[in-house]
Amino acid sequence: MESHYPFTLPPLPFAYDALLPELDEKTMHFHHDKHFATYVDKLNELLAKYPAYQDWPLEKLVQDWPELPEDIRQGVRNNAGGVYNHDLYFKTLHSTPVTAPGAALQGAIDRDFGDLQELKRAMKEAALGQFGSGWAWLASDDQGRLSVRKTPNQDTPLPLTPLLACDVWEHAYYLPYQNRRADYFEAWWRLVDWPTISQAYEKAAGSRPHYPNP
Ligand code: MN
Repeated sequence: MESHYPFTLPPLPFAYDALLPELDEKTMHFHHDKHFATYVDKLNELLAKYPAYQDWPLEKLVQDWPELPEDIRQGVRNNAGGVYNHDLYFKTLHSTPVTAPGAALQGAIDRDFGDLQELKRAMKEAALGQFGSGWAWLASDDQGRLSVRKTPNQDTPLPLTPLLACDVWEHAYYLPYQNRRADYFEAWWRLVDWPTISQAYEKAAGSRPHYPNP
């Protein structure tokens, strides 16, 4: 992802049919080429008329949108969030995912949730409990403490570092799963690539000795 305007759509990091049978080719085309692309285009459109904000990194746009001029404020909130969230969503999925977290992340999951199954249960509760469109998250603070969150619309959990993002907008699952969000969650969970998330965790938590074993 570019660090600032003009943003461009990153390519889907796998073939459109790579996630079958969990997520179908048509869903991937619509989700990436239409929905994600539209967030990128709209964000660029909004920033085009305000050169003063064109050097703001994406992470700043999704956090500091209340400082923007009133006529683009809500639009940037929605569309910068859409760009940020979808970039993470597609990056953390894999056609042949490695299902075990790295040692540091596994240790933190055990400490903060009990085990991976308990983390899954908490994520599923957040995903199913988000009323209407939104996201469920696994996030880390800068001390390496993990938490599960949910956000409406395209809001993000920043300044916490999002590690894992479950898109529960209907556009993410309606073609194959219709109203069965729980079935989609189970399919999505099978696609999560833990090495990618473990790397992001180690970066977020920094190099300080932040999780002495209890
Ligand atoms: Mn989406």
